[in-house]
Amino acid sequence: MIALLSDVHANLTALEAVLEDVPRGATLWVMGDTVGYGPDPSEVLALLRERGARMVAGNHDLAVAGKIGVEQFNEDAAAAVLLHRAWLSAEERDRLAALPLTLNEGDFTLVHGSLRDPVWEYVLDGAAAGTCIGLARTAHCCNGHTHLPAVFAFRDGAKQRLTLVDPRDGDTVELAGRLLLNPGSVGQPRDGDARASWALLDEARATVSFRRTPYGVSATQQRMRRRSLPQFLADRLAFGI
Ligand code: ZN
Repeated sequence: MIALLSDVHANLTALEAVLEDVPRGATLWVMGDTVGYGPDPSEVLALLRERGARMVAGNHDLAVAGKIGVEQFNEDAAAAVLLHRAWLSAEERDRLAALPLTLNEGDFTLVHGSLRDPVWEYVLDGAAAGTCIGLARTAHCCNGHTHLPAVFAFRDGAKQRLTLVDPRDGDTVELAGRLLLNPGSVGQPRDGDARASWALLDEARATVSFRRTPYGVSATQQRMRRRSLPQFLADRLAFGI
C-alpha cells in the first residue's frame, strides 16, 4: 500500500490525522509543497522524514529553501515563505533545497506540477494531463500543486480518455492504461471540502482510492494566529478554499 500525499503545507494537525488513517506499514509518496502557508514546517518535515517518505520539491519548498525568490507568490504566500525561512534551521533548508524535482518509483513518476514544468504548471484539464503523461517514462504519474483531487486516465493510447476531476471520498479508480493522479491537498484543500485530501494506492488490487480525513481545523488556525501567519491563510482552512 502506498499513501499519496501532497501540499501538506506545514499543517501538522492535518498530517497526523491522515497518518492515523493510512494503513500501517504503507509507503508515503509526497508530491511537494510540504512547507509554506501553515504553522509547523519543522515538525511536518521531521515526521515525514521519520516515516521515510519519498518526496519531491514544490514551489513553496524551493522558495523556503531560498532556491527561488518570492516574486511569483501572492502577498500572503510570500509572507508565510519568509516566516518559514526564519523558523527553519540551515540544515532543514538545505534538505528542502536538495529535494529532487521528479522521482521514479516503479511504474510511477512523482512531480509537483507537471513534467513540462515540475515547479509551476497547474494541470487542470485533459490536454495538460495528456502532455504530462506523454513526457513520462513510466506508465503513471502522480502530481499535486492544484490542491484539487483529480484523476486523468488514458486508455488505448490517448484515444480513450476518462477524466474524473472531482473524485469524492471513497471513489476508486482502476490502475489501467496510463493515469495522472492528484490526491489533492492534505494541509489546505481548495475544493470546498475542509477535510484533508489524499489517496491510497493498492498495487496488489491495482486500484487507487481517494480519501478525506477530518482534522482539528481550529487547532491549526490557532497555531497560525499564534505564529503571526496572515489571517486569510487561517480563515480559508475552515471552508476548504
Ligand atoms: Zn501548494
